Amino acid sequence: MFRKKALGYLNKKREELVRISKEIWDEPELAYDEYFASKIISEYLKSEGFEVELGYADIPTAIRASYGSGGPVVGLLGEYDALPRLSQKVGTSQVPIKEGGPGHGCGHNLLGVSKLAAAVAIKEGLQQEGLDGTIVFYGCPAEEVLTGKPLMARAGAFKELDMALAWHPSNHNMARYGSNTAVNSAKFHFKGITAHAAADPHNGRSALSAVELMNVGANYLREHVTNDVRIHYVITDGGGEAPNVVPESATVFYYVRAFTRKAVVDVYDRLVKIAKGAAMMTETELDIEFLGGCYNYLPNRTLVDLLDKVMRETDTPEWTEEEIEFAKELNSKTDNYEKVIQAGLAKEGQHLATEVLPQSDEPIYASTDVGDVSHIVPTGSFVTATQNIGAPGHSWQVVSCSGHSIGQKGMIYAAEVMVGVMDEILKDPTIIERAKEEFEDQMGGQEYICPIPDDLPIP
Ligand SMILES: [Zn+2]
Repeated sequence: MFRKKALGYLNKKREELVRISKEIWDEPELAYDEYFASKIISEYLKSEGFEVELGYADIPTAIRASYGSGGPVVGLLGEYDALPRLSQKVGTSQVPIKEGGPGHGCGHNLLGVSKLAAAVAIKEGLQQEGLDGTIVFYGCPAEEVLTGKPLMARAGAFKELDMALAWHPSNHNMARYGSNTAVNSAKFHFKGITAHAAADPHNGRSALSAVELMNVGANYLREHVTNDVRIHYVITDGGGEAPNVVPESATVFYYVRAFTRKAVVDVYDRLVKIAKGAAMMTETELDIEFLGGCYNYLPNRTLVDLLDKVMRETDTPEWTEEEIEFAKELNSKTDNYEKVIQAGLAKEGQHLATEVLPQSDEPIYASTDVGDVSHIVPTGSFVTATQNIGAPGHSWQVVSCSGHSIGQKGMIYAAEVMVGVMDEILKDPTIIERAKEEFEDQMGGQEYICPIPDDLPIP
């Protein structure tokens, strides 16, 4: 009866929840600036009887909200940050609302509200049935810069949980066993001595030369890393505008990724040596601004299997003619459509996903800070279709669908799946026991070490 009551409540609250997701879509906010989204979500949780802390872990836009008592203690990971320069109207042509403004190109307006929806529905089910159990909604800021959850973990978050659930918007429906890469990011600032490049070159020490030599070193490093390692950089400060002035300062911004945290730390340490070498060669000063890092995602087979089962027994959204036409029009405007078909994620002529695809073990080279949570407690992750099949990641098409009924339906379906998972866990406590055993095995006695040092300030 828990599931029926919780789903009934979700259905009753559906319009309100959809409206909140649209309000967050209308007000896209970048990492650590999610004041509107965190406020509206906190207020809703309060009105639903949750104990709410906005500003959790000293991060103004982080939330911890809980309801219930005793076990199982289940965490839902909400996110609500947008991406820069992706402002876009709901429509089938690329038209920004505000030129150069932010937009929900990863669908996090849906992500945050799906967890909110699941949280309030689960609360209602627990309350109506008088059941033991605690639901914890974590509002996690700044997923797009991959430091929100690690910073929350640094303050002790997630340890209280028996398990966590993560859902992300997508172009297909699937419980995901595939991992993601861990990452470290840092800015390397070099400071030299400026001089007239022609009249006085021997007195100059070029910061730009240091950046270039560091990049040369890093590019040779690629020959001696494992296949999963990704190293990428941009020069954010090239040190000047005039060739006749020796650049006094220059900055290069790096990401290092790999499928294990250990490999990231190893390669990052070698990169630091290269930076120091570049500074030594050019007689410049080096200042390393470590921006943070996160873990790879550690999938839990027990929870992923459970998600897969519940996804299959929950009806996927039925798409209207209008929605299919909308998606078809979008698919016609992207080369990505054919790639998705070739990858076997959809059939030719299909424009919106309907079925639940088989679980994939395929790792993804992108990173998510859900990885940190997955190294603290058993974590299950899944995706549902909230976009046209061909929508490229972080694109205007994702923004458009995330403000459309297509995205909203996929979001509610995701919330229904999370309610179903809670129901299964309440009925069979051995699921969590098995998930925990598996987690302990995978960790092999290793402790989670927060990738963000204690002294790194909150951005
Ligand atoms: Zn995302």
